[in-house]
Amino acid sequence: MHVFLTLMLSLTWLVLLGDSGVGKSCIVLRFVRGHFDPTSKVTVGASFLSQTLGLQDSTTVKFEIWDTAGQERYASLAPLYYRGAAVAVVVYDITSEETFRKAQYWVKELQKHASPGIIMALVGNKADLHENRAVSSQEAIEYAEKNGMFFIETSAKTANNIIQLFEKMKIEVALMLE
Ligand code: GDP
Ligand code: MG
Repeated sequence: MHVFLTLMLSLTWLVLLGDSGVGKSCIVLRFVRGHFDPTSKVTVGASFLSQTLGLQDSTTVKFEIWDTAGQERYASLAPLYYRGAAVAVVVYDITSEETFRKAQYWVKELQKHASPGIIMALVGNKADLHENRAVSSQEAIEYAEKNGMFFIETSAKTANNIIQLFEKMKIEVALMLE
């Protein structure tokens, strides 16, 4: 049974969506490689990385991560990445109201076109820049609750809450497959 479950859980397709510049690629790099590169390059199209969580636990999840480009010109490609996804992480930048609006666009898009059982997280990144905050936690929490999403504020720069985000997604995936 244990082996069976491990196999069942081994592959989880996760997609990151959100405006260009909110820190999607930095979140993935922090999670997969454990570092922050302030000179990281703009994602072209989409990029793929994978990371396994919980090798020591009874539930092991291998995240296959599609990090999409936020630019308008790639928007028509997004369905290719989210349609088959088990988990969607929608990211905005807490210092930009505009990116929070864009996140809401992606949530609507997912509600219309992704698999009905998709697990969704709303992530307010760049939480280290709290002195420039433009989106209140309360506003984001309320939006996430209304839309059945997990909400967390992260910083790819300081690593704050990055592992917590993926751990939570792992737990949600395990619950879904139970
Ligand atoms: P993407 O377009 O969403 O993939 O965004 P990137 O990951 O390429 O990051 C865009 C810019 O934001 C880069 O200059 C990063 O150094 C910066 N950045 C990303 N995450 C953070 C963060 O948590 N805090 C701060 N202060 N800057 C960040
Ligand atoms: Mg990127």
